[in-house]
Amino acid sequence: MTTENNPMLQIDRLNTSFRTPEGWRSVLRDISLSVSEGETVAIVGESGSGKSVTALSVMGLLPKGTARQDGRILFEGRDLLTLSDREMRAVRGDRIGMIFQEPMTSLNPVFTVADQLTEALLLHRDMSRAEADAEALRLLERVRIPSAKSRMKDYPHRLSGGMRQRVMIAMALACRPKLLIADEPTTALDVTIQAQILHLIRELQAEENMGVLFITHDMGVVAEVADRTVVLYRGDVLETGQTTDIFAQPSHAYTRSLLASIP
Ligand code: ADP
Ligand code: MG
Repeated sequence: MTTENNPMLQIDRLNTSFRTPEGWRSVLRDISLSVSEGETVAIVGESGSGKSVTALSVMGLLPKGTARQDGRILFEGRDLLTLSDREMRAVRGDRIGMIFQEPMTSLNPVFTVADQLTEALLLHRDMSRAEADAEALRLLERVRIPSAKSRMKDYPHRLSGGMRQRVMIAMALACRPKLLIADEPTTALDVTIQAQILHLIRELQAEENMGVLFITHDMGVVAEVADRTVVLYRGDVLETGQTTDIFAQPSHAYTRSLLASIP
């Protein structure tokens, strides 16, 4: 944990609204947060609070025509909100890895696991096909796919949800990201599989010294993964702090209600 570093990601008074038939609807209001190298920051809040919109903002994936944003999203010294689509694609491809909730996770059903990983590697890394094939196998072993070699020839539907999520993590790691954005990556998984995936993410983060922005509605998951926590409620940041401090002394009634919901 290296919180005294300059943050690699700094969201500074971000506002986001969507166009609706009734006019602009505000979904994020002046939110600020930061993630440093080697640090996991959780965004926690109930459904509809703006967690995914925050993630999509950082990735530059909000719909251009219907979303309006102001504020700053500083990443490695640049304001992502000022980048062209092309520059943003490069940042997304080379610097930021993403994993989403199964089954929204976008493994292509018509390609084998090996082909998808190899394609990602050929796209983002300077590798020959033989090198990419070898690296794909190494990545699958790294995310602990059992019998990775034979699994590579499988199509995604042949894998369990947990295994597909492991493949997605391998895909996210293919570009060797500095920042990993995980949007409810374990929400749809069984509890034991969830614990395994959380463990895997933490382990990989420590090895790679990545910053992780981890989105969840579950305070139990927050306790497992996050160095710091940002509590989001209907588009407002209610509190931010070290996770241990927030658990010991939540300053907001809403945070107390989230904590009370941990089984
Ligand atoms: P969370 O991830 O915390 O459950 P979201 O970030 O997905 O919540 O959504 C926050 C709010 O923004 C919700 O009210 C949602 O309906 C709205 N919203 C999200 N995406 C869009 C969009 N593309 N167009 C219009 N409204 C959206
Ligand atoms: Mg969401």
